Amino acid sequence: MEMKSCHTIWECPACRNVTKQFMEVAKRIDLDPNIVNRLQVPDRSVIISIPVRMDNGDVKIFAGYRVQHNDVLGPFKGGIRYHPEVTIGETAALAMLMTWKCALVGLPLGGAKGGVTVDPHELSRHELQHLTRRFTAELVNIIGPEKDIPAPDMGTNEQVMAWLMDTYSQQKGHVVPGVVTGKPLVVGGSQGRSEATGRGVVYTVVKALEKRGSGIGKETTFALHGFGNVGANAAKTIEEMGGTVVAVSTSKGGIYNPSGLNYDDLVACHREHGNFSCFRGGDVVTNEELLALPCDVLIPAAVSGVIHEKNADRVQAKIVAEGANGPMTIEADRILNDKGVFVIPDILANSGGVIVSYFEWVQDLQNFFWEIDEVLMQLKRIITHAFDEVYGIAEREKISMRTAALIKGIRKISDAMLARGLYP
Ligand code: NAD
Repeated sequence: MEMKSCHTIWECPACRNVTKQFMEVAKRIDLDPNIVNRLQVPDRSVIISIPVRMDNGDVKIFAGYRVQHNDVLGPFKGGIRYHPEVTIGETAALAMLMTWKCALVGLPLGGAKGGVTVDPHELSRHELQHLTRRFTAELVNIIGPEKDIPAPDMGTNEQVMAWLMDTYSQQKGHVVPGVVTGKPLVVGGSQGRSEATGRGVVYTVVKALEKRGSGIGKETTFALHGFGNVGANAAKTIEEMGGTVVAVSTSKGGIYNPSGLNYDDLVACHREHGNFSCFRGGDVVTNEELLALPCDVLIPAAVSGVIHEKNADRVQAKIVAEGANGPMTIEADRILNDKGVFVIPDILANSGGVIVSYFEWVQDLQNFFWEIDEVLMQLKRIITHAFDEVYGIAEREKISMRTAALIKGIRKISDAMLARGLYP
């Protein structure tokens, strides 16, 4: 079994980053020291060895994780990531961010995250299904519609969620659609879930543009780092709203055309190759170059830590909207703030995914499904309201949007913990 080097929570840079952010905010808002101690560590962290019979007959063991950070507001909620760099530390960091995110946008849900250290592109469909089913079976006692509700994240998709839901339902002896969100529509998914995160990112960018006295138009240029669920759906929404996408990338590199890239052409090339090697309508750029391109808005929508102290100064965008979780280090955040870049933090910018996941869970519990217009209207209402509240705090207290968002989320968790008290 391959265990990545950072396999304890506190060794992990991502975890140090979020803990440091939390401690800074705790100090600023004078958080109760008992609450600080409790929130620094997750409620529960599980490491699982997942044996999978590979197509060649060998049995390979994969490392899987589920970290449940805090459930004071409701059942744990958070995605499952399949990626070769997944560690218990990164998973714990992302679980903490989910706690703040759900609280920030006012959802009755807690924070969790899961993952498997694997490159899903190296597995056959059969192997991927076995991995998912065994992972789910190992989690069966700690997940469920009232306990912990997983969702897709990097490297997982609707199909993986359908296998998860089926495995859990087989174990329980009846259909339990509410155990997971991001499922296909036919098994209890929600209209609008697959596009929710990318669309939500763009809704927050439009709010930011309005606050800066403009709106979205043909002259508003966007560079997207990552073209998966979040990046591609953001690109589609930008085009629909009249903006111009000038650059996109995958892990293999990107393309750039200052006059704009056509969404359908991008998708056609990406569908065939999984990257933009066949795309002829732009110049080839590296991922590093893409981050530094001249544009109005940069949307990092891939992995964490890509904007750091060595490249932050080269960012030319006026607005950075964090589609990915934790795409910039604390040092980079400081550099961008000093440069006057308006950063929309991950827990706000990419909250559209968990907002529509919440809608999906509600629909599954009620067995009553909504039209797409209803989903998008409610998504826009919740995310733009959260943006306005965070912006108000940032303006009033002369702090960054990130600090303001963290203050709002963390304060709500603390208030709920103090109201509920300590058991026994
Ligand atoms: P995905 O697997 O669908 O797509 C990931 C994209 O990133 C792909 O285009 C891939 O080629 C690219 N990529 C991977 N490694 C890269 C690298 N080192 N450099 C450049 N590009 C790289 O994943 P996704 O669901 O779009 O998630 C992307 C990010 O958004 C993650 O940080 C995830 O946690 C976050 N997020 C996703 C959702 C959701 O609903 N899917 C919700 C909230 C946050």
